[in-house]
Amino acid sequence: MIVMKFGGTSVKNAERINNALDIASSQLHRSPVMVASAMSGITDKLQLIATNAGNGNEAEAISIYREIEERHFSVAEDLLGSDNLPGCKYQLETILEELLSIIRGLSILKEWTKRTNDAVLSFGERLSTVLIYHRALERGINAELVDARKIIVTDDHFTQAHPLNEITAERIRSIIKPEKGKLWITQGFIASTEDNLTTTLGRGGSDYSATIIGSALKAEEVQIWTDVNGIMTCDPRIVTNAKSLETISYREAQELAYFGAKVIHPSTIQPAIEMEIPVIVKNTGNPEHPGTRIVSEETEAGIKAIAFKSGITLINIVSSRMLLAYGFLRRIFEIFEKHRTSVDLISTSEVSVSMTLDDTSNLDEIEKDLSKIGRVSIETGNSIVSLVGIGVWRKPDTISKVFLQLEEIPIRMVSLGASDVNLSFVVPDESLERTVTKLHDVFLVD
Ligand code: ADP
Ligand code: ASP
Ligand code: MG
Repeated sequence: MIVMKFGGTSVKNAERINNALDIASSQLHRSPVMVASAMSGITDKLQLIATNAGNGNEAEAISIYREIEERHFSVAEDLLGSDNLPGCKYQLETILEELLSIIRGLSILKEWTKRTNDAVLSFGERLSTVLIYHRALERGINAELVDARKIIVTDDHFTQAHPLNEITAERIRSIIKPEKGKLWITQGFIASTEDNLTTTLGRGGSDYSATIIGSALKAEEVQIWTDVNGIMTCDPRIVTNAKSLETISYREAQELAYFGAKVIHPSTIQPAIEMEIPVIVKNTGNPEHPGTRIVSEETEAGIKAIAFKSGITLINIVSSRMLLAYGFLRRIFEIFEKHRTSVDLISTSEVSVSMTLDDTSNLDEIEKDLSKIGRVSIETGNSIVSLVGIGVWRKPDTISKVFLQLEEIPIRMVSLGASDVNLSFVVPDESLERTVTKLHDVFLVD
């Protein structure tokens, strides 16, 4: 069997949904499971709804809700003939009514929690899959729609929930029975706790849903259908001459995703590694292009691609008590653990530690706790740039070339040698584009 995941742009209108179904139909003999995202832009709108309702701005939340309603009905009308339209509209209406009641309730209570956020964000995938399912039926495809919340079970870490592997695998295997000629359809991104509370796997998490399902069903491959020709040497939105990579190893793909290459969610590769399932990234708008194969074998050494993350915060802790003391770093990391915040890069000297954070939602509390063990300063507006490739720093001239190219750019922090597939450094946000383009020209353009 195979899993095919279609991202937001790949299902954003009637034409794209038809394209996605063309691609799925051509592989029906491979017993496919389709995992679909919300139509592009919808999850962002739902986020605005959750925030506005939580602040008691019911009118604003409802006006955004109307846009969502209107967009789904209009796609349904473009997509379906008179025989199938009423059934689809009825299902959309049922789901939309539920969303409307949630908006009303949250607005009255002025309630915003991570839990209510997940409940609201889940509607994008629930709505898009209804459209896809009805169009599949209309095209005569033997299709079945499964609510992902019945098959992916997570902990209650709302907005970033972690799947409970065993129970999830059992549920997937007991509900989805892949067969030739049949298209199973389910939602990416959304899941539920054992108590049936709706959770999400984090923004961009549909890729992760695909490999979770692929791993439970021992898929022969997982296909990620998106809007670019596979994984490229850099984000083509920033570097216009970025090229597609034919193959890349699990380790490299994982590192790229972790350090900001949005094309796959950072957790996507882990389930694939366990079962050695190849993950193929392809372009819905250009299905003939081979895309990128992410595989277990290590490919040749050298820099493959550049990833970056902007809006990074640096925290520095200076304490003379650190001098020759042991247990100091443990105390620092306990604070991050307490606030469930992960640190990306770290650099230490005798009396100071600097770290980068992506998620600053608990920054105030973290700062307060860290102040008890040292003098804390915070610098915002930074970016991490990562050169990714097996043995990236083993070639002696790589490092000298990097520093030579960036001689006018104030490099704030460097992480070298922590992993042999990654050389990362921190620069100010305003130097990001220049840094990335320069390094791409030097290392990745022939
Ligand atoms: P989807 O909606 O299909 O999940 P995303 O927007 O999440 O799509 O991811 C695809 C986008 O990732 C591309 O349009 C591209 O701008 C961005 N991207 C960032 N880094 C890379 C990279 N190295 N290779 C390809 N795309 C990248
Ligand atoms: N719809 C979700 C998001 O926009 C999940 C995804 O597209 O992967 O984050
Ligand atoms: Mg995505």
